[in-house]
Parts: sequence; structure tokens; C-alpha cells
Amino acid sequence: MTSMDHLRKGWCPGAHRPMRSGDGLLVRVRPRAGSLSLASLRAIGSMAAQFGSGEIDLTNRGNLQIRGVTDDAFVALLGALDMAGLLDPSVEAEAVRNVVVDPLSGLDPQRADVRDLSASLEELLLRDVRLWSLPGKFKFSFSGVAAPRVGGRSADIMMAAGDDYFSIALDGAIGMRCDVARGNVVDAIHRLALAFVELKENDASFRRMRDAVARFGVARVFGLAGLQIPTISAGTEASGAPVGLLRRNESVFGVGVGLPFGRITADHLAVLCEHATAAGIEDVRTSPERVLVFPVSDAPRADELLRRANVAGLIVREDDIRLAMDVCPGSPACKNSRADTRRDAQRFADGFAGSLHGCSLHISGCEKGCARRTEASFTLVGRAGRYDIIRDGSADSMHVHDTIDADDLAAAISRLSLESAV
Ligand code: SF4
Repeated sequence: MTSMDHLRKGWCPGAHRPMRSGDGLLVRVRPRAGSLSLASLRAIGSMAAQFGSGEIDLTNRGNLQIRGVTDDAFVALLGALDMAGLLDPSVEAEAVRNVVVDPLSGLDPQRADVRDLSASLEELLLRDVRLWSLPGKFKFSFSGVAAPRVGGRSADIMMAAGDDYFSIALDGAIGMRCDVARGNVVDAIHRLALAFVELKENDASFRRMRDAVARFGVARVFGLAGLQIPTISAGTEASGAPVGLLRRNESVFGVGVGLPFGRITADHLAVLCEHATAAGIEDVRTSPERVLVFPVSDAPRADELLRRANVAGLIVREDDIRLAMDVCPGSPACKNSRADTRRDAQRFADGFAGSLHGCSLHISGCEKGCARRTEASFTLVGRAGRYDIIRDGSADSMHVHDTIDADDLAAAISRLSLESAV
């Protein structure tokens, strides 16, 4: 029986406060307003090679994570991050700066540019120490379209851009939104965050905004922030991951390169950066779907970058099955894991012919389910070299549908997804 300590939720690593994992320290770098200069991306790759295991994760919050850092190398890595302008001023400032930004905002002509709003909020999060008591996972997001969930993922406080208005939604009641003018967006979000801090001070059991919404109702939470009772909005959902050639009508505006199960090696990152530089690209956006989005409008250069990424085994097609999979680091990187999840996931992807028929697949080394908080169509939880299959549930579900060998994953999921489709 494993200790349950590792199942504790609510803590996110950073650079100042790394997390210890089976392959060393995890040092997380948070982009600002959802983007990094290409020089910064290249520097992160070099640091991963010099101070870590040479592997970099892109998390489902759009952060980059240097893996396998030794205790001896950690201080030198912090110095290198600081020199590169990638270090927040303190552990508290770093922890509170949890902001996800629509990676196509400002690129896709049909999306509002919300990066300035995100940057203003990030400044406020660094400045207002009252916000530093927000829970470590408390997250804000900015969407350039009317669908509030960026990359299909909820945040505690979500902003969505409509045609001539901006609306704010809270996790737990996404269909009820408060409309505000652009100039009032950051102030409204600020007041909502302070209202949550106050509620949490009175009841420490509130971990996330959805807890407050469930207890008091969404109108009351908005009211505590001095905002109008929200309007009911027809739910709209975001489209798929921004992978491949990104275009609006006939105009190319970017290239999206997916990282298989959220990971890239320093060598492949260096190659990607080299070809992005050759294409005249100066910055990169990070997407919660674990995609690097490169702004580029020259179609031949964009095609060449995709070709190079494909050769490196990265994801360049929207129908790549690996995009439908959430996979945790597993063994040997995580000491709690009971399966080599990434190896089994790649074998599954190699051996699986056909489609998941819209189903989602979560492969987890244990019940903690780090890679996916929400339910998936099929969740596979490692169990001594085998996998428990959970249908329409999460990794900690008690309702196990079946237990299978890792070698049988492709056949079992193929059969189950076909059954779901009929
Ligand atoms: S879900 Fe995966 S990464 Fe998270 S603790 Fe379990 S085995 Fe480790």
C-alpha cells in the first residue's frame, strides 16, 4: 500500500519552489501573458540540457517545466533563469501568477487581442499582496472568443471576448456570465479574486472558486465583488487544438506544433528553434493543449517548419491520436507510478488504427490523476504492470470496468470506443 501523501492536491511547483520527482527536481517556468520570446524558448532548452535531464514538459496550464534537475545544479539553474529574465521576484509572486491566455489571441483575425488584459492582471497579481493568499492552483484565463474555456479547460475566473463586450464567468457556473466593458475587465477580475480571498478567510475549506459558487450561488459571488447579477449565456465551446498550419480563409497566421504527451527533448527544441528563427519567427505562444504556437504568415516557411517538426516526431496534424490523450509522467519519472505510462501511451498510439470516435483517453500511473482533473471517456490507471479501465470517470474512481495487460491497450480501447460510438 502506498502512502497517500502523494495524493495531496492543491500545490503547483515553480522555479523558486521546485517539485521533487523520481527523475530529480521539476523546475517550472511560467510564460508572461502566455508567450515567450524565441530566445527565451531556446534558452530554456539549453538550460534543460545543461542543468537537467534534457527533457522539457509543456503543462496543461501552458507552462514549461525543466525535468531532472539535480540538487547541486538547482542554484545555478535559478541564476541562469534570472539572467534570462525568466524568474519571478519571489516564491509568492510566482505562485499567484497563474494565468492562461488564448494562444491565438492577436494572431487569428477573428479573435480579440486579450494579451494586454492578461499582462495587466499579471502585474496586479505581483503587486497586490492580498492576492498572494489565493490557493496555489487558483487560475485565471483570457479567451479571445466567446467560449470562456481556453483549450477546453476551466479556470477559476474566466474572461471571454464577445463581439462588442467582454464577459466574466466563474468555474462551477460557466453559463452565467457578467458582461463588462473592456476597460473594466481587469478591475472586475481583481474584485472577484479579492471576494474569494475574503470567503476563504471565513471558511478555509474553500479551495477553489467552484466551492464558493456551490455554497453561495454565482450571483452572490458576483455581488460580493460589486458586480451585476450575471446574464445567462448559451454555452459555446472552443474548437480543437491549434495544430498544423493555422489559417483564416486563405491567410496563414501561424503554425502549431504539439508535444507528444506534453514533452520535448532539448535537442528537438533546439532544432525547432533553429527552423523557427530561419522562418523569421520571434516569439512563441504556449497552449494548454500542450502545443507551441509560432506566429508566421509566410506559407512556405510555415510548411517547412511543420515538415521539420514532423521529422522530429512532434505533432503536426489535428487528427493525431496523441492529442486526445492525457498522460502523466509515470515511471520512472514519478516514484508513485505503477506503470511506464508514456512508453505504454506511445505503444498504444503506434498500434491503434482508426479513431477514438470523439472519446478522450487518460493514462495515469496512479489514482492521483495528475494529467487530467476532469472525467475522461476512458481512464487507465496503472496497477502492477496492468491497467484498470474506468469508463466516464476520473483516476480515483472506485468503479473499475476491467483490468487489462499493457499489451492489450489498443485492442481494448478500440473495442470500447466502437461500443461508445453505436
Ligand atoms: S498521476 Fe502519475 S505523475 Fe501523478 S502521482 Fe500518480 S503516477 Fe505520479
